[in-house]
Amino acid sequence: MLLRHTPTEITERTALTINPAKTCQPIGAMYAALGIHGCLPHSHGSQGCCAYHRSALTRHYKEPVSASTSSFTEGASVFGGQANMLQAINNIFTVYNPEVIAIHTTCLSETIGDDLPQIKKKAVAEGKVPEGRYLISASTPSYAGSHVTGFSNMVKAMAGMAEPTGKKNGKVNIIPGWVEPADMEEIKRITGMIGVKTILFPDTSGVLNGPLSGEYKMFPDGGTTVAELKSTGDSKGTLALGEWCSADAARELDKQHKVPCSVLDMPFGLMATDRFIDALRTIAGVSIPDVIVNERGQLVDMISDMHQYLYGKKVALVGDPDQLIAMTEFLVSMDMKPIHIVTGTPGKKFEKRIKELTKEMGREVNVKAKGDMFLLHQWIKNEPVDLIIGNTYCKYIARDEDIPYVRWGFPILDRQGHQYFPTVGYKGGLRLLEKILGVLLDRKDRDDSESKFELVL
Ligand code: SF4
Repeated sequence: MLLRHTPTEITERTALTINPAKTCQPIGAMYAALGIHGCLPHSHGSQGCCAYHRSALTRHYKEPVSASTSSFTEGASVFGGQANMLQAINNIFTVYNPEVIAIHTTCLSETIGDDLPQIKKKAVAEGKVPEGRYLISASTPSYAGSHVTGFSNMVKAMAGMAEPTGKKNGKVNIIPGWVEPADMEEIKRITGMIGVKTILFPDTSGVLNGPLSGEYKMFPDGGTTVAELKSTGDSKGTLALGEWCSADAARELDKQHKVPCSVLDMPFGLMATDRFIDALRTIAGVSIPDVIVNERGQLVDMISDMHQYLYGKKVALVGDPDQLIAMTEFLVSMDMKPIHIVTGTPGKKFEKRIKELTKEMGREVNVKAKGDMFLLHQWIKNEPVDLIIGNTYCKYIARDEDIPYVRWGFPILDRQGHQYFPTVGYKGGLRLLEKILGVLLDRKDRDDSESKFELVL
């Protein structure tokens, strides 16, 4: 296999990343923008960047992803991309007529120093933006941060669309962070059952998990509407799910329009979901409906029934900070041992939080922000694990080291289902647990002696 030669000995590296555990900022910005109804993401840079961003999302979601580009060539690369951007805005509204163009920058346009707010103003002044149509923008230089940073920056730009009327709308803003379309659907199902009126933004359900209808829609039915985004400034509060993906937008609404916010963990696993449900209950001032209590009970039941197969199992994790924090807490709560944890996104507070969450395991964990999958592989070689949880690229390590593996996170390029089956909430917890148990028990069946090979567990 490709990684056969990964050395066990770990050398300190500061200027070299091998097999990154992240991708580029504009991919996150593009994914977030697709969660606005009638929005066309626009990549301000070369065609190659845009093609890469679109294909990364298309390969994961298995849906066509439309986006436009400023199509920089040599001239724009030297003299700046303003003329290309203005022409693009004109063409896009004339040909495709989206409600919103969500512009993100690229390494090239950031290096030139293009001033997007100024270009947007010029486009409006020159009448290139029709009445009732909008431009939003985010700065997403890919030589800093990761796809998570790009996502967060674009969601913050959405918060900038808020136009408070002074009359409260009785709703709660929920910023779900970078989760699957199915997770966004599940969050809406949960809030609906509790009886909380919400504005979920962004919302890619119905955009990137739509049915095959035989009819192509450039702008699918799903997504947060412009009217909803404007109304976020009139909401009674905001729940931001995840410090890395969602908190900046929530704080922006608080700062600009006095919409109070709480930052929670993403609701993966038992305890993070408990906190999410409790926050909704408090905001709505209602009791938790029986159906949700039952779902929680089912998750607790499965954890108790299968605990013997989970207890003490060592796990290696790779992914994005918000997801990894909730997953680590979930695994520790089931007496599993997440011992190697890597994210490609920078941020020392990630390492601090993981160390706090794993304190009760009674042993040191390997954790690194701005790490890479080469390091994760080296850690695994030094201390093998029973399970790997992470994106598609883990398959190389899993095969080389013969370790059971659950695909979870972004990107997943070689399997299906992630866009349809949620992993948030109690129901999602059941799905996660089923996947984890599936690979662990398959391995047990493969390796057990005949005398231990059980039909009934
Ligand atoms: S040049 Fe920068 S923005 Fe373009 S694909 Fe590469 S990392 Fe992403």
